[in-house]
Amino acid sequence: MVESLRFRDATLAKRVVEKIRRFASKQETVKICHVCGTHEWTITHFGLRSLLPSNVEVIAGPGCPVCIVPASEFDEAIQLALKGKVVACFGDVLRVPGSKMSLLDAKAEGADVRVVYGVGDAVKMARREKDKEFVFFAVGFETTAPSTAVEIVKKPPENLSFLVCHRLIPPAMKVLVEMKDLSLNGFVAPGHVSTIIGVKPYRVFPEVYGMPTVVAGFEPLDVLFGVYMILKQLSEGKPRLENEYVRAVRQEGNVKAQELMKKIFEVVDDNWRGLGVIPSSTFKLRKEYETFDAQLKHGVKVEEGVDIQPGCKCHLVIIGKIKPTECPLFMKACTPQKPVGACMVSNEGTCRIWTKVSQQI
Ligand code: SF4
Repeated sequence: MVESLRFRDATLAKRVVEKIRRFASKQETVKICHVCGTHEWTITHFGLRSLLPSNVEVIAGPGCPVCIVPASEFDEAIQLALKGKVVACFGDVLRVPGSKMSLLDAKAEGADVRVVYGVGDAVKMARREKDKEFVFFAVGFETTAPSTAVEIVKKPPENLSFLVCHRLIPPAMKVLVEMKDLSLNGFVAPGHVSTIIGVKPYRVFPEVYGMPTVVAGFEPLDVLFGVYMILKQLSEGKPRLENEYVRAVRQEGNVKAQELMKKIFEVVDDNWRGLGVIPSSTFKLRKEYETFDAQLKHGVKVEEGVDIQPGCKCHLVIIGKIKPTECPLFMKACTPQKPVGACMVSNEGTCRIWTKVSQQI
C-alpha cells in the first residue's frame, strides 16, 4: 500500500499510479507477467495489485528457482543422501517434496543433509572432512550458476561433486509467451538474473513476439515504473525492450560471469516442474568437467518423478494461470509447516509469499 512507503516514495508512487491509470484507460485488458519471486514478494507485500486499475493484471510466472526443479532431481539428491553421501544444499531446498519424500525427511531418517549459505561452504566442509563424499545440490537461475561455476573452475576437492540443476529464465519466458490461452501483453523481466545475462537475451520478446519487455528492480517504485513503461509502450503501439533497473543492470550484463558459465556448462533441453521439457533451458556440466558430476560419479539417475502431488495446483500457479487462493489445498492441507507443493516451500514460491502476507493482515 502506498501508505507503507516513505513519504517521498509514496508521493512518487501516487504520480506513477496516476500515469498508469491514464495509459490503462486506453486499453481493454492488460496482462503483465513477471518471472521473479522477489518481484512477487514486492508486489504482494506492498499491495501493489490493489493500486492498479481493474483492467491491469500482474501475474507471477516461474520465478522461484526451487519450485521449478522437477521432483526427479530432488529424488536424485535424496537417493544420494540415503546412500551415505553428505548432501549440502540451500535452506529453502530442504522441505521441497520429491516424489515420495523431501531432503528433510531423508535427514530425519538419518541421512547427512547440511544447509549451506553458498557453494563455498560445501567446498570448505569437503576439505575438512576428507573421509566423506560430499554432493552440492546446485539449484538456481543464472544468478547463482556463476558461483557454482567459479568453484568448479578452481578445482574443488576430489570428495566433492555437484548435482547441477541450474535453469535459464529466457527459455521459460518463451514458453509463456507461446501459451496462447495465457494471452500476455507484457513482461517485467527479472532484475537479479539480468545483472548477469544483461538485457540482450530478452530482445526476442518485443522483436519476434511484439511483447513489451521491461527489466525492473525490486523496490515498489521499480515495479510500478516497470508496469507504467509497459503500458506506455502498449498505448504507443511500439513494443520494445527497456531497462528500468539501470542502477544495477548493464546492457551487456556481467561478461566475466557469462564466460565462466560458458566454460563450465553446456545448455541442454530439460524438464521443469509444472512446465515440462523446455528446449535449451538447463545447465549441465561440460564433458571436461564430468568428474565433478554427482550423477555420473555415484551412478544416480532418476528418469521420472511425481512433480505434482494429488490435488496440488502448482503447475497452474507456476505459470500464473491461477492464484494460490484458487488452489483448494491453500492454507488447508497445504501450509508452510506442511507443504504439499513446491510453491509453498521457498520464500520465493508464490503460495508461500501469499501465505506470509495473508498472515500479516
Ligand atoms: Fe501446490 Fe500448496 Fe500452492 Fe496448492 S497451495 S498450488 S498444493 S503449493
